[in-house]
Amino acid sequence: MEPDVLEHEEGLTPEEEDQSLYFIDGEWFESHDLSFTDVVQARMCPQCQDRLNEEVEERYPVADRRTGRVTYEVRRTKYGSRPMAVIRDCCARKSGYVTPEMPVLEAIFRILLANANQPMPLQHIREQLREWCPSGRCQWLLMPLDVMRQVVERDQAYGLKRYEQPDVA
Ligand SMILES: [Zn+2]
Repeated sequence: MEPDVLEHEEGLTPEEEDQSLYFIDGEWFESHDLSFTDVVQARMCPQCQDRLNEEVEERYPVADRRTGRVTYEVRRTKYGSRPMAVIRDCCARKSGYVTPEMPVLEAIFRILLANANQPMPLQHIREQLREWCPSGRCQWLLMPLDVMRQVVERDQAYGLKRYEQPDVA
C-alpha cells in the first residue's frame, strides 16, 4: 500500500523532511543479487573502466597493537577495488559525469557517489546538480523539491534510503 503523501500524522513534518538526509544503501544491492561494486564501477569514466583489471599497489596504515605506532604496508590490489574513491578523485571531476539527459535518480545517485556516499539533504544534492547544469534548464533541476523527494522515496533501483540519525543523548 502506498502511503498517502498528504498524511503527516505518522510521517514527518515538512520541517523534518527538509532535514532528512539520503544515502545509497550498499546492502540493498547485495540483497537484490547485485554487486554494489559493479554498479559503482559502471559510473566510472571510460579511462578508469579501461584500467579495472590493472594491478596497483595500495599503501594502507597498520597500527602496532602493543606500541600503537602506525606504519604503512603495501598490498597489491585491482584498480578500482574501492570505486567510490576513484569516482570522487577522478571521474566526478570530468565533464559528462552528470548530463542533462540523465534520469533524476541516476543524477542523484552520481552526486552521492561523488561525495563518497556521505548522507546529504536533498537541497545539498540539488545545489551540486546545479553545477552540472549551467543553463539551469535540466529536467532534474526544474523538478520541485517535494516532487524530487517523492521520486527518491519511491526509488526501486538505486538503493536510495533515508538516513536514520542516531539519537544524540
Ligand atoms: Zn575516472
